[in-house]
Amino acid sequence: MGKVLITGGAGYIGSHVVKRLLERGIETIVLDNLQTGHREAVVGGTCVQGDIGDERILQEIFAGHEIDSVIHMAADCLVGDSTKAPLKYFNNNVNKSLRLLGEMVERRVNKMVFSSSAAVYGNPSRVPIEEDSPALPINPYGETKLIFEKILESCKIAHGLQYISLRYFNAAGADPDGLIGEDHHPETHLIPTVLKALLRKGRRVPIFGTDYDTPDGTCIRDYIHIVDIADAHILALEALHAGEGCDIFNLGNGNGFSVQQIIQATSQVTGRTIPVMESQRRPGDPPVLIASSEKIRKRLGWIPQYGKLEEIIDTAWRWHRTHPHGFRSSVLKKGVGG
Ligand code: UDP
Repeated sequence: MGKVLITGGAGYIGSHVVKRLLERGIETIVLDNLQTGHREAVVGGTCVQGDIGDERILQEIFAGHEIDSVIHMAADCLVGDSTKAPLKYFNNNVNKSLRLLGEMVERRVNKMVFSSSAAVYGNPSRVPIEEDSPALPINPYGETKLIFEKILESCKIAHGLQYISLRYFNAAGADPDGLIGEDHHPETHLIPTVLKALLRKGRRVPIFGTDYDTPDGTCIRDYIHIVDIADAHILALEALHAGEGCDIFNLGNGNGFSVQQIIQATSQVTGRTIPVMESQRRPGDPPVLIASSEKIRKRLGWIPQYGKLEEIIDTAWRWHRTHPHGFRSSVLKKGVGG
């Protein structure tokens, strides 16, 4: 396998993908505007600070490196935020991503693994969700991911693009070696929010909605360890190199946990009581998202190594305890909030 360009490779998921690629001896080049990513999170290879919408940087990267495939992860990715700032999402996730695709088509780089999302399914009528369930997103974030998947399909037909789209469910946990982990400012995701509440006095975890049609009234999600997500990217790249054709795969564990269950499990793993407060529903949140990942297991032989919720929370907890303010650059850049 030749050099892989990873857009958004300094982000939470991207940095874990880069680490796994490097461990497998695959050469990497990261393009990241470092707005939400961290340079320190990129543990090796080349790292270029720049935007996927910047054609000059794209041209320089493709001209200067023998890139044979792209993992496209750079995106805005918060459901709630997307309902408030849809234009930002359509611009970054679709418009700017088109420039990346345009450059790939021009340079005849024809392999892409795309970071898609469970958000494309909206409110699924059946769970676990299979890949052929109707894609009817209920928030702009999910719309942008679905639109880009359609663009990839058109590019397959017109330009011979080979792509695999991975629809992530809820990425969580951290590198078991403890080198990298999740560091968002502000943090909005559930598990890190819960862990941060334990590390900062006076913080409470808001429970967004307790009146959903679920057994305990809180939303149910399928949490998947970040290393298992990263490994799926390697399998996807290998499949593209083996000429196995374009496909779309869910990435989840197939187990649903409610917000309340996550709070209880975190309390058990950490041995501490979590301070919580009931809050309004968050716009754009579907009540239940649970994946069927049978397809990727069967077709690509993906087997999650960290399938247990306790392991997911434990690796995250180890990262947060040892990096209570995130990466060092976060502390320098933004102070100790977040
Ligand atoms: N959530 C919550 N409190 C928080 C953060 C999240 O109750 O402080 C809920 C959120 O409404 C959703 C679930 O936890 O139902 C997972 O949210 P997260 O932002 O982690 O991931 P998403 O499913 O939006 O990708």
